[in-house]
Amino acid sequence: MTQTHAYGTASASQPLGPLSIERRQPGPHDVKIDILYCGVCHSDLHTARNEWRNTLYPSVPGHEIVGTVVAVGDHVTKFKPGDTVGVGCMVDSCQHCASCADGEEQYCENGFTGTYNGRGKENTWGGYSENVVVDEKFVLRVDHEASQLAAVAPLLCAGITTYSPLRHWQAGPGKKVGIVGLGGLGHMGVKLAHAMGAHVVLFTTSPGKQADAKRLGADEVVISKDPAQMAQHAGSFDFILNTVAAPHNLDAFITLLKRDGTMCLVGAPATPHPSPNVFNLILGRRRLAGSAIGGIRETQEMLDFCAEHGIVSDIEMIAMKDINEAYERMLKGDVKYRFVIDMATLG
Ligand code: NAP
Ligand code: ZN
Repeated sequence: MTQTHAYGTASASQPLGPLSIERRQPGPHDVKIDILYCGVCHSDLHTARNEWRNTLYPSVPGHEIVGTVVAVGDHVTKFKPGDTVGVGCMVDSCQHCASCADGEEQYCENGFTGTYNGRGKENTWGGYSENVVVDEKFVLRVDHEASQLAAVAPLLCAGITTYSPLRHWQAGPGKKVGIVGLGGLGHMGVKLAHAMGAHVVLFTTSPGKQADAKRLGADEVVISKDPAQMAQHAGSFDFILNTVAAPHNLDAFITLLKRDGTMCLVGAPATPHPSPNVFNLILGRRRLAGSAIGGIRETQEMLDFCAEHGIVSDIEMIAMKDINEAYERMLKGDVKYRFVIDMATLG
């Protein structure tokens, strides 16, 4: 075990601050990574504050990690010291259930091990730290230019969480795709759906984000609080990806789906949405679905797709000590569009 500087919290009510954690020595299949940058996901905040009521303390969040390989175990074949790599939301899974066999480790029937907050009673600590030790199966290759690495970090969660459902529901030419919420996930959803060739409509509660949404790739922007604007899109969407982090009226979006259209929820609010009206689903054979991040193979595919299309996240870099203020700003929707921690500031 080695002592490692990190930033986290001992309880739901305390702000994050410096603490020390233990990392294992790299085993035969492990890669040790010095962390350069870590994105700040809304899930970090949900977890630090125990909003999903499953947090293990002390909690060290962070699952949008980009860093440099500094050591590898004897049996590691994919990576060598000096490589630039990424780690997302998972660091392990059972490797023998049907989902793992299909490369969908995020749906591991025995529960994947999160990069932070572990699984069951065993805790893991995330990317708000100097380094991390991860089985090479859960380490991703990063081919973006060195100057883009901070902006690559958010791809490891916000990128794959939007890429996977957009691919699953076949966003592409001829499809009308809605993205709800222009935050960390939403702004990646807009960029990716646009790059896939879909007609993209961004729904926002923030009128001030309209110009940005267009710049990011939205063909149209709808202020979701304006019933007249919403009504113009009734019954017209093939697919809607909903990234909102708070409970809200889902019917307002379900009624915008075509026959056989799907709305997929990726936002994970701490309390339930008001129940949707069943008739809006029955009449039109519409579907309400969910999706969790993406498998390791698909995460690599997403990173390669982004490198090829020149896609990164729009970020605001922060110092580690400013994380508590960043959480407050994220709650107000005041981030364009992802905070990324410069880990050199951990000290
Ligand atoms: P974020 O940056 O805070 O963005 C959320 C956006 O939702 C906001 O920017 C805002 O967009 C909109 N919003 C917030 N409160 C709202 C309200 N009361 N009513 C309507 N819209 C509201 O968060 P994020 O990091 O993108 O994460 C979004 C959610 O996805 C979180 O719950 C997170 O835990 C979850 N998540 C899920 C997965 C998964 O695998 N399914 C993975 C990662 C994250 P506008 O200002 O444009 O309205
Ligand atoms: Zn996340």
